[in-house]
Amino acid sequence: MIELKGLTKVYGKGSKAATALWDLNLSIKKGEVFGVIGHSGAGKSTLIRCINLLERPTEGEVWVNGVDLTALNQRQLQVQRRKIGMIFQHFNLLTSATVYDNIAFPLRLMGTPGKEIDHKVKELITLVGLEQHLNKYPAQLSGGQKQRVGVARALASDPDVLLCDEATSALDPQTTDSILRLLLDINKRFNLTIVLITHEMHVIQSICDRVAVIHGGGIIEQGDVAEVFLKP
Ligand code: ADP
Ligand code: ADP
Repeated sequence: MIELKGLTKVYGKGSKAATALWDLNLSIKKGEVFGVIGHSGAGKSTLIRCINLLERPTEGEVWVNGVDLTALNQRQLQVQRRKIGMIFQHFNLLTSATVYDNIAFPLRLMGTPGKEIDHKVKELITLVGLEQHLNKYPAQLSGGQKQRVGVARALASDPDVLLCDEATSALDPQTTDSILRLLLDINKRFNLTIVLITHEMHVIQSICDRVAVIHGGGIIEQGDVAEVFLKP
């Protein structure tokens, strides 16, 4: 489903060059909830941003659904990216748009007809449990509600993969749990592959099937969550 082959990312050039990832290989299966954990600066953010080419790797290949994204031109990449949704630590919502318009945004970009947009937005808003808040603005919502909007927007283009970039790090523990339950529910319901990065062990232990531990731009350990974390 997702194959990273020889992934290397170096920021900057010459004496200012910083290596964020070095010759990293990783395979993630369809329907899996895969976690990447590591300390700040380990390369988590760079890794997840390479999966949809928000960050272009310096070397290596990024295969998603049998397509090497690094080999595509901008137009082809745009099409493939619809199959990859993403949610963010700070939600990245449009502050001057309502909940409805935030969720509709990717659909409008794709040129989806208005009636279809309306249907889809209402389906998604029910999925994330915010039916009562369609006409509110992000500033009127709690952190957890904002992230629910983020999830609905990410699912608007019916992706096969959802990338979660520290998606619960700005939330309190209770809200974190409710968002994690929502993610797990979506994973089971749609067989959606989820890749999440976090610095919190609790997040990995509550929803991930497998985990990779990243350190200094490389994977130092990976396997089933129970094997990696519950060793005697
Ligand atoms: P994490 O998400 O685990 O905190 P990052 O992927 O953000 O790690 O960063 C990995 C390394 O790459 C760090 O040393 C960081 O300073 C560096 N880095 C990340 N983004 C940039 C950038 N845009 N320019 C230069 N260095 C960067
Ligand atoms: P977050 O906690 O939201 O991941 P970060 O502080 O890690 O935020 O990074 C914020 C932005 O700055 C990101 O786009 C990242 O790529 C960039 N960045 C991170 N480290 C560096 C760095 N050492 N030099 C330049 N840009 C960086």
